[in-house]
Amino acid sequence: MTDTEPTDTPPFDAARLAKAVRQRLQSLQRSGVSSIQTQTGQSVDLHQLQNQLRHIQQHGLPIDESGDSQPSAGQSGPSPIDTIAKPPTTTPAPPNPTSTLTPSPVPEQIPSTSPTAQESEIMPSKKQAELDIVCQEVADCKACVELASTRNKTVFGVGNANARLVFYGEAPGADEDKQGEPFVGRAGKLLNKIIEAMGLTRDEIYILNTIKCRPPGNRNPTPEEQQNCAGFLKRQLEIIQPEYIVCLGAVASHSFLECNTPIGKMRQQFFEKNGIKVLCTFHPAYLLRDPRRKRDVWDDIQFLMKDMGLPIPEKSEGVR
Ligand code: SF4
Repeated sequence: MTDTEPTDTPPFDAARLAKAVRQRLQSLQRSGVSSIQTQTGQSVDLHQLQNQLRHIQQHGLPIDESGDSQPSAGQSGPSPIDTIAKPPTTTPAPPNPTSTLTPSPVPEQIPSTSPTAQESEIMPSKKQAELDIVCQEVADCKACVELASTRNKTVFGVGNANARLVFYGEAPGADEDKQGEPFVGRAGKLLNKIIEAMGLTRDEIYILNTIKCRPPGNRNPTPEEQQNCAGFLKRQLEIIQPEYIVCLGAVASHSFLECNTPIGKMRQQFFEKNGIKVLCTFHPAYLLRDPRRKRDVWDDIQFLMKDMGLPIPEKSEGVR
């Protein structure tokens, strides 16, 4: 801020602007564009530009022409995230979101990555169109030979392309394999109750799984299958850009956060991954086997709702 600027000018939010610009650049890159030209005719590599913007987005530190950094307006010091996952100051981290896991609890202190009202409305139909492209690639995918030969339908994911919240499950079951939609069986009905108890609908959130094809006999997806499918998940999340992800059960939690911590020890705290707040709780299928755990899940959901700023009904019946 200069001396001549009025003191009541809203602080310039470099991180938010960087995020919006990155969204546009990612869209260009997906269309096959690798560089752009400035007004002076200079060619700028999109990959490098993305790295610089990512740095600004994650750390709020504008990088000037000389490579020096300075705090953005309104930022008085490093956030807890800075101390956990700060990339080198001279060489921005490569664009590999799945390798930037920070499985450290950071409740209440993560700088908000919430999109502005304007950003939230950035062409949801365009987002859906981008998801449709990935969905078609999934439908054609045969990377997992066994799954591709035994599936009836791929299960891409369903919901609002502009969702703040994503529920992340394990793998499609028999019902999902038949219908091509996640969480449509008994566990899905229970998930619907959880969503309704939050005062939301399935149209307002997004639901997806670690892999898109049903493992025969409902076995757990193998690490190789999860790895094969990780690229699709990464692209889905890059398009949706949720603020929150709820990992349902140990398989989803361990896959997404790349850890082996017992699920009971991961509850009631937020982890951070790629700017997304991640909450872990029990899988609805587990609640069907042990209904006493519904109270725990409702506690976790209320923990989430509080952080999301959603009203918690005084006389809520919770998850029944
Ligand atoms: S699980 Fe994913 S990677 Fe494997 S075949 Fe299905 S879509 Fe392809």
